Amino acid sequence: MKAHAIRNVFGIALLFAGLLFFASPADARPHLRVGVPMQGAAAIEQDAAGNLYSVPTDYAHAVANYAGYEVQFVPSTWDDCRTQLADGTIDVVAGVLPGTAGTEGMAFGRMPLGWQRGFFKDPQLPNEGNYRLHPLYYAVSSGNTALLAELDAAADRLMENRPGFYTMLEQVYADHGQRFGLHLSQREKDYLAPHPVIPVVVVAREQPFAYVDEDGTFQGTLRIFTDRIEQDLGVQVRVLPVPDFAAAEAELASGRAQVLLDNGWDLGWAQEHRLWFTAPFYVSNYTAVTRRESLPGSPIVAAVDNRTTARVLRSRYSDDQIRIYPTIVDCMKAVETREADITFVRQGTAQYQIFQGDFPDLVTDGTVAFSLEMASGVSMDAPMELLTILDKEIAYIGPEAISNAVARHDKASESSRSLSSIAYAYPQYVMLAVLTLFMLVVIFILNSITMRRTHVRDMVRLLDEDQATHMKNRAWFQRQVKAFIAARPQLAKDLAIVLIGVQRTDIFISTYGRDKLMEFLRQMAKALDDALWTECVATHGSVGEVIVLAHTEDMATLKKNLKEAFKQHEFANVGGIVVRVPLTAGIALIAPPLTPNEAIQRADFALHEAQDILVYDDAMLARAHLSSRIESLQEQALKREEFEVWYQPKYDIKTKKCVGAEALVRWRSEELGFLPPGKFIPLFERNGFISQLDFYNLEHVMRFQQDCRAKGLPVVPVSVNQSRVHMQEQGYLAKMRDLVMKYSTDGIALELTETAFDFTGAAQREHALAVIAALHGLGFRIDMDDFGSGYSDLSLLSYLPLDTMKIDRSLLLASEGSQRMRSVLQKVAELGHTLGMTVICEGIETASQERLLIRCGCEYGQGYLYGKPMPRKDFEAFLRAHA
Ligand code: C2E
Ligand code: MG
Repeated sequence: MKAHAIRNVFGIALLFAGLLFFASPADARPHLRVGVPMQGAAAIEQDAAGNLYSVPTDYAHAVANYAGYEVQFVPSTWDDCRTQLADGTIDVVAGVLPGTAGTEGMAFGRMPLGWQRGFFKDPQLPNEGNYRLHPLYYAVSSGNTALLAELDAAADRLMENRPGFYTMLEQVYADHGQRFGLHLSQREKDYLAPHPVIPVVVVAREQPFAYVDEDGTFQGTLRIFTDRIEQDLGVQVRVLPVPDFAAAEAELASGRAQVLLDNGWDLGWAQEHRLWFTAPFYVSNYTAVTRRESLPGSPIVAAVDNRTTARVLRSRYSDDQIRIYPTIVDCMKAVETREADITFVRQGTAQYQIFQGDFPDLVTDGTVAFSLEMASGVSMDAPMELLTILDKEIAYIGPEAISNAVARHDKASESSRSLSSIAYAYPQYVMLAVLTLFMLVVIFILNSITMRRTHVRDMVRLLDEDQATHMKNRAWFQRQVKAFIAARPQLAKDLAIVLIGVQRTDIFISTYGRDKLMEFLRQMAKALDDALWTECVATHGSVGEVIVLAHTEDMATLKKNLKEAFKQHEFANVGGIVVRVPLTAGIALIAPPLTPNEAIQRADFALHEAQDILVYDDAMLARAHLSSRIESLQEQALKREEFEVWYQPKYDIKTKKCVGAEALVRWRSEELGFLPPGKFIPLFERNGFISQLDFYNLEHVMRFQQDCRAKGLPVVPVSVNQSRVHMQEQGYLAKMRDLVMKYSTDGIALELTETAFDFTGAAQREHALAVIAALHGLGFRIDMDDFGSGYSDLSLLSYLPLDTMKIDRSLLLASEGSQRMRSVLQKVAELGHTLGMTVICEGIETASQERLLIRCGCEYGQGYLYGKPMPRKDFEAFLRAHA
């Protein structure tokens, strides 16, 4: 667009150059002196060299050339133009609006040479009362008809030759100010320098367009214009707000104000009030405001005493239909109170007032009823420079800028309007929005309640659930028990806690996996929960234990119920194979004032001692206390060397010679006194401390052997008990190797019971065999301890290469009273021999037992008959006496 415009300017320059060339010689042509009023809407630009740029001047130039004249422009004021035309100093005035004040005695050309922007009542047009874009003409003195005819003929020729010429000029100058920037002439600059303040009066009675705030300061959309002037010109626009035009007039007349900030374009009115109008700087669009009902046929129109508005309205309505009110708000009130039926206000004002909610019964459809071009009026008493400066500024701002800014501002104030006004403006949308909001709030509340419930439920579930088994946990169980007792206190005495445990959970888990154990527990718990004699079931917390609240009319019935339950449920289905899961149970009555938790603890004591089903008694509590005491002292006992290794001799029962010994531990505790191994070994096996203790004992025995050899004392093989926990212990063999490296395995045997060996599967058997082989490799002999004490697994004997079979005392005792058992004892001894093992029997107390054993083929014996376990010192003496 810009390139296009520049091309046009270039074209025009060529055209003028051409015209000048052909009109030779220049001096030969008569001069045409054209007066140019340097104000008004034509926005005539004058450069530093005095050249003029505008549509009327360029057009006048072209017409004059066609008429054969050399143009000489005379920039001037409107008044001067008039007088100069009258006295013959100039021939033509360019850009005159016919019919306006001061045009008497002028004759106008036929062709317009520019358009006054804005709508005006044009008396020349047949349609009286119509307001149109007003054409500007050139004017000559009314007596100079010959010149007028010459110029009109030239204009006709120009039109014929160049029909698009005028349109082209319009295009060229459409954005003239913006294109060429704001260029003030020297005179204008000289004027501005000592006048940095432009005193302006404004009728401020219309919110949001122009109004006064609480501080009496001018506010409103119109400030966009004054701010822009200040910004561009570097001046201060001092705005004096007044309530009406009479007051504005007074301010202008007094000289306190030089500019009337805005007024609808009306040159006649301007003339009357001794004002020059600048070019319009924006278009005010007016809209109709009515009540919410149809208009009567001849509506009463409320209007302010704004002459322009009134003038527009008077062309549409009869005088008796128009009522004048001081302010726009008064007009709207009049419509609301039915004094009037309609009023016309600026669009922005209508929106603002109606949307404020102050006029709930008024409506506007927002369409433009009419538009007025607004211009500033500059006092004719002010220097002409002020007018030309403002004109240039308006051209510089551009025709649309202020209008656009006002529209934006109105939009912004609309968006900041009150809630009630929005409700008023769009009741249906607001209702919808309120309803939607309400629904959203309801949904939100419901949702948060649900979420809260779900959350609480999840929390409760988490708090009440055991994460491993997904069964109810002990905390939940305790609450249930309390609640049950609180609800039925009379039943409390008949309630018992039953703690059911899976034996050897470690074996089950390592064989079938933890998940299978959990599944088994869940199924068992469910079955128990369904039973009539139970109240509720949960997981206990220790792996493989289920806790039950059971009814106990008498203990025998409860035990019977439990046994039956065991029979039914002690089987797990593992991949289609039914596996027996041995169960034990501890029972404790909830005898008030015992708390459920205390009862659970008691059941726990019972369970830990139970081989089958065991009811709690107070001795268990004592034992439990002792256990916890032992546990608290075990570490320091080891450091203090409170554990003593005692030795019990082993005899060749035929020769009655001491052939060895068994090392048996004792604890001489500072706090607990002297303790036999039965008091602490089972506990140490449970808590794992046995591992350290066994190494401690073994090292003592190895050192004892070493010492005996060093001292030249008799040396007999000594067997050392090894707990079953070593079989699964990480690093057991490495530690054994370290000991062997330090001492020697010479004359050392390890006693292992059958339970040390896990023979449940091929892998376990392999493992047991590997450990035995490794121990053999280190030089240890391996004794099978307590053989025949339980249901001995004969495959174990055949599979593992063991060195000694140590027959348990229980088998010896059983053989004393039973021929059958004597046969068993004999066969067992034979089996041992068959497998290449040494056979020894323990617990021989009497000579008859010794004889029995000799008859059964047993070669070695250990028992009180030969010697009780004794401290090292005593055993050394014993050795010296018996070896
Ligand atoms: P065990 O290995 O079967 O030891 C034999 C037990 O029988 C010893 O009991 C011994 O004093 C006892 N005894 C020996 N002769 C007779 C007798 O003629 N009549 C009777 N009634 N009993 C007799 P003790 O010393 O109380 O040991 C008990 C168990 O403690 C041992 O049984 C063994 O399993 C364990 N134990 C002892 N010392 C250790 C040790 O250092 N490490 C490990 N892991 N266990 C040990
Ligand atoms: Mg033993």
